[in-house]
Amino acid sequence: MAEVWVLRLGHRPSRDKRVTTHVALAARALGARGIAVSTKDPELEKVVRSVVERFGGDFEIRTGVKWREFVGQFDGDVVHLTMYGIHIDDAIERIGSENVLVIVGAEKVPPEVYQMAKFNVAVGNQPHSEVAALAVFLDRLMKGGGLRKDFKGRLRILPCERGKKVVSDSE
Ligand code: SAM
Repeated sequence: MAEVWVLRLGHRPSRDKRVTTHVALAARALGARGIAVSTKDPELEKVVRSVVERFGGDFEIRTGVKWREFVGQFDGDVVHLTMYGIHIDDAIERIGSENVLVIVGAEKVPPEVYQMAKFNVAVGNQPHSEVAALAVFLDRLMKGGGLRKDFKGRLRILPCERGKKVVSDSE
């Protein structure tokens, strides 16, 4: 698989600030290349870019994206995560031979998204969270590899049994 992008639909800056930030950070941490958000939100861009600047990687964030164009022009498999879709166990082997665009909603997703997607995938057929759905999906898609990515960050966390160990480039 080449690159994975995430498209966040229906983000409302006043209501969804925290959840969309978590969608973006989970996407980055689990190996996605970038996130496109359908609503313009400079504050969200600032927060995510600050994490990239400190912790590394080449994760991109774009907000105010014309999502229909973005989906239409995407060169790869378009996957929409929805509790109404095909169970992830039955879908995952059919996805990911090329670039993948993963769509997650905030408020109700427009019905045409179900038609535009090549795969409508359920991370279990129960309602839960876009952050949980995205994390499980990306981990399954990359067979755990996303969590092993070396971000080559200015700040690096050294795993330890207790406490916190962070090393900085400047030390
Ligand atoms: N109320 C909205 C609706 O009726 O479409 C959905 C809200 S839900 C909290 C937000 C997003 O989480 C959904 O658009 C979907 O992308 C994702 N999601 C929630 N549960 C899911 C599941 N079981 N499988 C896949 N995605 C899920």
